[in-house]
Amino acid sequence: MMLRSIAAGLALMALAAGMSGANAQDGNWAVVIHGGAGVIERGSLSPEDDAAYRASMTAAAQAASAILGEGGSSLDAVEAAVRLLEDDDLFNAGRGAVFTADGHNELDASIMDGRNRAAGAVAGVTNIRNPITLARAVMEQSQHVMMAREGAEAFAESVGIETAPPEYFYTERRWRQLQRVLQEGALRPLHRFGTVGAVALDSEGHLAAATSTGGMTAKLYGRVGDSPVIGAGTYADDASCAVSATGHGEFFIRAAVARTICARVELLGEDLQTAADAVVREELVEMGGDGGVIAVDASGAMVWSMNSEGMYRARVSSGSDLEVAIYADEG
Ligand code: ASP
Repeated sequence: MMLRSIAAGLALMALAAGMSGANAQDGNWAVVIHGGAGVIERGSLSPEDDAAYRASMTAAAQAASAILGEGGSSLDAVEAAVRLLEDDDLFNAGRGAVFTADGHNELDASIMDGRNRAAGAVAGVTNIRNPITLARAVMEQSQHVMMAREGAEAFAESVGIETAPPEYFYTERRWRQLQRVLQEGALRPLHRFGTVGAVALDSEGHLAAATSTGGMTAKLYGRVGDSPVIGAGTYADDASCAVSATGHGEFFIRAAVARTICARVELLGEDLQTAADAVVREELVEMGGDGGVIAVDASGAMVWSMNSEGMYRARVSSGSDLEVAIYADEG
């Protein structure tokens, strides 16, 4: 508590001294989104696929920025961006979710509100079209933070969240991917993911983060990764930052990636890029955990950091044009 007040005091002093750049009191907003990290080698994507991924990233960033530009909340913005990506079969979330080893789709998602650190998460749901909206319902309409499997699905029904039949989540590409893993053990962990996420700062100075995934191809029945774990795959606190992660979830849970980045900002006073790089490019690398994060802070800083060859990603703010990137050395 004490440290939080000191940090808040320092932030106020910085504001008063005009030291912070863009900030929420100017009505500024910012959003960063991702569509998963992994081995995305230059030349391995056809020009058509490259263009399709960039178009989807653009559409999701624009959906969020339209909300933020009209004074909407960061929570609405991150949910809208993630919903679009969940509906897009290019990404491993919602419709395009990967298959478990036994040929099902088990979806995880979480959302967090930086205003009060309210959070909602769902794990292992099988029939929810937009798991991120169910996660938000858990946050806003239940006493709980995380609900799993049949219980989460029963809760979804009770609050009228849209469901979808198993066929909706069947895509040829993901099915072939599963067969390759099962028959040849072909995909290294890094080829197996593609989670989506969004982080935003709104014009009232509030942060939010959202993450949604199908997990990892051929995961064991009941396996849950970092995406629905608050503090690992998702975190948002107005006092520090908002983070959404993608990568080999087991490592991201063990390193409490999202919360550790925000804690470094809050308690060590590191800038957001330094904090994100310390966790993703040093700590996770030492542990052997591949992937990346996107993050935004209350000053409007928008960062990404990855230790993989690429991450589908985009960022835009009230003061800067849309930037879309795929490969690690872009942007
Ligand atoms: N982090 C996710 C998980 O481990 C996978 C991903 O990011 O693609 O479930």
